[in-house]
Amino acid sequence: MRKLDIIIVGAGLGGLASAIALQNLGHRITVLEKAKELKEVGAGITVQINGMKALQKLGVDQEVIKQGQLIQQAGIYSWDGQEISIDPIDELTEYFNAPCVGIHRGRLQQALLKYIPEDKIRLKQKVDNFIEKDQKVHVITEDGTEYIGDFLIGADGVHSKVRTLLNHSNDHVYAGYSIWRAICKRPANLNSNISVSWGDERRFGIVPISSTEVYWFATNKTPSEDFNTEYEDILHHISSLFEGWHDPIQTLIQSTDAKAITRTRIADRDMFFPWGIGNVTLLGDAAHMMTPNLGQGCCQSFEDAVVLANCLGSTENLELDLREYENRRHSRAEDTVHLARAIGIRGHKSGAWKEALNAKDDEKPLNIQDRYWLYDFIA
Ligand SMILES: Cc1cc2nc3c(=O)[nH]c(=O)nc-3n(C[C@H](O)[C@H](O)[C@H](O)COP(=O)(O)OP(=O)(O)OC[C@H]3O[C@@H](n4cnc5c(N)ncnc54)[C@H](O)[C@@H]3O)c2cc1C
Repeated sequence: MRKLDIIIVGAGLGGLASAIALQNLGHRITVLEKAKELKEVGAGITVQINGMKALQKLGVDQEVIKQGQLIQQAGIYSWDGQEISIDPIDELTEYFNAPCVGIHRGRLQQALLKYIPEDKIRLKQKVDNFIEKDQKVHVITEDGTEYIGDFLIGADGVHSKVRTLLNHSNDHVYAGYSIWRAICKRPANLNSNISVSWGDERRFGIVPISSTEVYWFATNKTPSEDFNTEYEDILHHISSLFEGWHDPIQTLIQSTDAKAITRTRIADRDMFFPWGIGNVTLLGDAAHMMTPNLGQGCCQSFEDAVVLANCLGSTENLELDLREYENRRHSRAEDTVHLARAIGIRGHKSGAWKEALNAKDDEKPLNIQDRYWLYDFIA
């Protein structure tokens, strides 16, 4: 197929993955990013088996493995450490031929950046508008610069400007809970497993991301009006919410630098279709914002990147190719949004842990049957 000029808005994880996928096919890409630099910031992230399968197809999986921690097992536990359900990740890795990796979010971004020539990423370019004219998309940034491409990908995250310009609603559905996230020193005896522990209306997750670091997150049911509460002593506050919970939860909280803790309101968005119009489409959170309960938001954006690249040239008409991409991605992304939402609702109920502990095997939260379809990414 003819080589295209493609403009991608957003140098986040989805934007960079799509840049690599399209560049691998010989297309010319330009990534417009509003930030003035791409720093190694953020907490941790889990790239699940399907996300790593997508990265394999892009040829960047080994770099990501090098920068992260291979996960052996993922388990759900009660607040006092009783086992609720276990994902045998090592066995699934063999079955699906791809691992699950815990990694620093900033390091994941840097790993992807290695594959993109520096001059393809234009920083301090906040996209303000676009117009389609004569089969081309003209993208205008806040400083008045104009970029012209054959098509435009809005990979500009949950508050996507491109999405707004396409006249889709930007309304979020607040999930009713918030999440604190941080990275701290990995205790010497901590294994390479992910654990998420459930209590009453709150959960605590532990994800090793290197031989020396561990990423933890703590969720708590939060009426939306309480969200902005400032805590004089944030460590004390989080520690008291998880008082009496199993080891090493208190150790991790206490060994964290309070300044490194971030808090996010958890929300998702109802899906819509089609994502784009004409020679404009969406990718990643801009298209399918989801709650983080499955650790899938970024993995789904990696899948988007692979499928989008596969769809280009499938017809003689670029616009139809973009609609084909959206068509192939829509229901899988929507199922993921719904499953993540359901897990979040279940996990933040009062007595959630007790109900989960007593549930039959096939009704346990995140039993592996629930997730075969997710891990099994076929481009
Ligand atoms: C608490 C939490 C935990 C999570 N954990 C996981 C996990 O373990 N595994 C997983 O797979 N996913 C996880 N996710 C989801 C994951 O973080 C997102 O799905 C992923 O980062 C989305 O990538 P993106 O490229 O679509 O958007 P983003 O990463 O948000 O990138 C968007 C980019 O666009 C830029 N931008 C925005 N507007 C403009 C503009 N007008 N002009 C130019 N640039 C612009 C932004 O600066 C940014 O760089 C988690 C999410 C949360 C909230």
